[in-house]
Amino acid sequence: MLKNYTYQAVKGTRDVFPVEAYLYQRLESQARKLLACYGCGEIRTPLLEHARLFERGVGQGTDIVNKEMFFVPSKDQDEDSRKENARQMVLRPEATASVVRAYIEHEMDKVSPGVLRYYYIGPMFRYERPQRGRLRQFTQIGVEVLGSALPMIDAEVIIMLEDFLGSLGLQHLVFLLNAVGCPECRPGYIRKLQVYIRGCQSRLCGDCRLRLDKNPLRVFDCKQPVCRELMARAPVMQDDLCADCALHHEEVLSLLDRAGIKYQKDSRLMRGLDYYTRTVFEVTSSDLGAQNAVAAGGRYDNLVTELGGPPTPAVGWSLGVERILEILPREPDKSRGFFDIYVVSPGADTTRTFFKVMALRRQGLRVGLEHEPKSVKAMMKRADRWGARWALWATSKNPEKVEIKNMANGEQMSVGWEDLPQLVGK
Ligand SMILES: [Zn+2]
Ligand SMILES: [Zn+2]
Repeated sequence: MLKNYTYQAVKGTRDVFPVEAYLYQRLESQARKLLACYGCGEIRTPLLEHARLFERGVGQGTDIVNKEMFFVPSKDQDEDSRKENARQMVLRPEATASVVRAYIEHEMDKVSPGVLRYYYIGPMFRYERPQRGRLRQFTQIGVEVLGSALPMIDAEVIIMLEDFLGSLGLQHLVFLLNAVGCPECRPGYIRKLQVYIRGCQSRLCGDCRLRLDKNPLRVFDCKQPVCRELMARAPVMQDDLCADCALHHEEVLSLLDRAGIKYQKDSRLMRGLDYYTRTVFEVTSSDLGAQNAVAAGGRYDNLVTELGGPPTPAVGWSLGVERILEILPREPDKSRGFFDIYVVSPGADTTRTFFKVMALRRQGLRVGLEHEPKSVKAMMKRADRWGARWALWATSKNPEKVEIKNMANGEQMSVGWEDLPQLVGK
């Protein structure tokens, strides 16, 4: 039962304490290491962006833009803000549009011509209805590769994603893959889809009736059983792909086959964001509930021009860190090691121990210290809770020697302070 404290975290946000933060760090450092192997460099864009970036980039017909943006009032008195209403800034709901904005604004096509590979790690914000139990501030890791339309790049980012998720030891994952066409072939398909949906309009849920005109592809994402049933019989993009899109799709699939990536073709996976073209994909986990997507992405060949930049085909993905942490196998031994040494009792000369501990810390050991002499036995429990590798206590018998205990196997010995770095290792 939650108590009614005067100050509480904002709804949909959460505090992360060290033990859990350690899991975030581990995931993030694994991502940094692996993505660097694929030639990706980190890009850090601001959390604040102009709302119109997402209105244009993500699209007016999407939930993200229509319902979920976190507006931030601006006090700026520049010409810009006088023209628009006070709600023109938002906390970023996603980062693809931001990365593209930065790419255009800094003329990266001229500064660094060729294919550019970026990754980002950071918080995103969506004003979700809290009853859905979803976070309003959540963390994403994402990759964006700009500057090539080759199917090989689609395959590369998918392999990268599979490699990363595999390196975490995640199981029960399914890669879903589809082709959503291009401006050549999609409009014709959308008209066909609208005709089909209109035919059964009266049976659709209210949301989908609204989607029909604005963004009919979104009807594929509806979770209502009635809508799902109707959409199961809807025409699929696959049958209307133009020759170029069909060839592109075939080549991506053949590369993934050769890479040994297991995927399922899902002709109803449309990813209701306006910017996707050709390849889209999603990774789901049967270990999660209804919101079972852990990662998603696709190609967005027209977003850069849509936002005012030079023609630049691109492809990317993002994954939800909190979702991954939910299904990450827990390895209890990995949490051991929060401290290398935990000093459970400083002995009689606490000041001396204090400075000995400082010296060990300067040599790169992670050392915890109980400053006041207490029962060694009671403090041993604390050392264990902290996941210390070694427990240490000073005795009055010989001030040059200390007692240490290996917390993993219970082995105990008497050693000098100066032997600790060598013994405990780095
Ligand atoms: Zn096409
Ligand atoms: Zn519906």
